[in-house]
Amino acid sequence: MKMLKNPIFETQKAIFKGKTAMFLVMRNICIFLSIFNIVNYSTPEAVCQEQDAKLRNDMVKYQIEARGIKDKKVLDALRKVPRHKFVPKQYASEAYNDHPVPIGYGQTISQPYIVALMTKLVDLKKGERALEIGTGSGYQAAVLAEITDSVYTIEIITELAQSSNETLNQLGYKNIKVKNADGYFGWKDYAPFDVIVVTAAAEHIPPPLIEQLNEGGKMIIPVGHAFQVQNLMLIEKKDGKIKSRSIIPVRFVPFKRGK
Ligand code: SAH
Repeated sequence: MKMLKNPIFETQKAIFKGKTAMFLVMRNICIFLSIFNIVNYSTPEAVCQEQDAKLRNDMVKYQIEARGIKDKKVLDALRKVPRHKFVPKQYASEAYNDHPVPIGYGQTISQPYIVALMTKLVDLKKGERALEIGTGSGYQAAVLAEITDSVYTIEIITELAQSSNETLNQLGYKNIKVKNADGYFGWKDYAPFDVIVVTAAAEHIPPPLIEQLNEGGKMIIPVGHAFQVQNLMLIEKKDGKIKSRSIIPVRFVPFKRGK
């Protein structure tokens, strides 16, 4: 998934790159050491964690706050979730960069800014119930789970459903349920949802998702054709009526059908 290039942020990106270059080198050393099991619970591990926290803080500052997102609960969640644990090892050094990263099976973990924007737009609050379609790496689900205590997420690719479930368990996210299915039909057993986040581009908004949206609930979904520019749409259900608003052009991986 890609956000369209915006030249306004090139300077901030350059600053970010410069400031974090040294940390990326250090991180790579950490990754190298951990691959060969040289790092365990000793001091180098603490150094790695400090490097990662610094990368996350800079990611939030230069990629997210700089683009106008101020919602504290969203920023705190992105500062907390260890994004590098959600990408394949060979891409760990790119985890905090300002772009999507491959996660295998032709899929990508979304750019940090897009995760922040989608999370901000649905305005998830503690105690609310969230559904995500397109678990992928599990990162977006973890971000939602930092804000509320019940998150449901559906992934159509069996291997990704399994690996994201493992990652989320390893990181101690007990409040996320992962299901391997076609998310088109939502998750009736746990409906209605206060928030629905769809992270694959659909040609139309799946009617079951609209049905499963709670009164007063919000859904964010990229709508448009696969491999083309799509519209990120914010859908709200008020007094049983649906209101939709187009937010920005985006490029997401396609919403697949038929599990
Ligand atoms: N949210 C993910 C990234 C999404 S990539 C993250 O944080 O890493 C989009 C994901 O949607 C892919 O993993 C893809 O397999 C999945 N997907 C596509 N169509 C789907 C469908 N109909 N139901 C469930 N998942 C789907």
